[in-house]
Amino acid sequence: MRLVFLGAPGAGKGTQAKRLEAEKGWTVVATGDLLRAAIAQNTPLGQQAQAYIQRGELVPDPLVNQIVAERIATLESFILDGYPRNLTQAEMLESILTQPLDAVIYFEISEDALIERLGGRRVCPQCNAVYHITANPSKAGDQCEHCGATLVTREDDQPDTIRKRFQVYREQTAPLIDYYRQRGLLRTVNADASPEEVYQRLLSVL
Ligand code: AMP
Repeated sequence: MRLVFLGAPGAGKGTQAKRLEAEKGWTVVATGDLLRAAIAQNTPLGQQAQAYIQRGELVPDPLVNQIVAERIATLESFILDGYPRNLTQAEMLESILTQPLDAVIYFEISEDALIERLGGRRVCPQCNAVYHITANPSKAGDQCEHCGATLVTREDDQPDTIRKRFQVYREQTAPLIDYYRQRGLLRTVNADASPEEVYQRLLSVL
């Protein structure tokens, strides 16, 4: 299975992708997670990406295209979470795929609901698990229930940066909804519900 997860920041793509990976064995390739790991390890890629992420802007296409191409080259089944994010990346993806995508899942939800979600989001800096202080709290309190690391608020989940990320999403990423609809690949999931409910909706469109 080869899937793309599309949707605004906070729509739940990462949470759903990780669950699907755990239950189906399809590998998640999350460009945001890969970039944050590169920053944490202070690699050349991380050094180049850091300022863009802090500003809520997209990291330049060549950098992101390269990490995705390397990752998916050997994978039969994958879930792309957070890629492609603009038309150039979508065309790049089309050119590197040896087999076509099976579907693009669009997680649909209003911006108002997302602002609430992103403010309460907590993430594990070690294993990338995602929580929400009220909707999806960790069973281990301030620690990650999977690996025990202390949970943090993502630096780009601050109000100003959130606004910038929405603007980038509306201008650059949202056009991909029509792009994939025209190709007959788009499946829409209403993402304004609990993680469990959204997961059941996701399974029903797959
Ligand atoms: P995410 O974890 O998907 O919300 O991504 C966090 C940040 O990483 C984004 O705001 C961008 O700065 C960067 N990023 C993630 N994926 C991409 C991508 N496909 N293209 C460019 N930048 C990206």
